[in-house]
Amino acid sequence: MRPLAIFDIDGVLADVRHRVHHLEGRRKDWGAFFQAAPRDGLHPEGLALALEAARECDIAYLTGRPEWIRAETSAWLATHGLPDGDLVMRRRGDHRPAAQAKLQLLEHLAVGRTVAVIVDDDVDVCDAYEAAGFAVLRAAWAPRSEALHVAQEEDGRT
Ligand SMILES: [Mg+2]
Repeated sequence: MRPLAIFDIDGVLADVRHRVHHLEGRRKDWGAFFQAAPRDGLHPEGLALALEAARECDIAYLTGRPEWIRAETSAWLATHGLPDGDLVMRRRGDHRPAAQAKLQLLEHLAVGRTVAVIVDDDVDVCDAYEAAGFAVLRAAWAPRSEALHVAQEEDGRT
């Protein structure tokens, strides 16, 4: 069995800048934030890395996006030329901070597999993965959004 290379989506592959405004200000509109996801641009650095990893590894996508945008997310990955792979999403009703929710999903995904690398852009998520012993590649190509970071870690929605 080939090792796994695991990719986060938002901020690694998908350019979310056009929809972060839904999370700024006092009233965050999570519905609008996720509904706009099909219009995300592509981070070419992320695509290049995924294509390179797919030569040696099975690919999986591990995202804090909720299950209700699974179909749109799969379609987006295919449209943008990303390799086929399992898509693991935040479970319905799971509002824990991303660092907790995603680490649990990762540990489940890693059972019986060798994880070659996991690529994510969220500092807290990367710290949690590393503390659990995983090899992390910190994606630094997307401009960091404080509003998004706070929303992911404090509201536990994405
Ligand atoms: Mg991300």
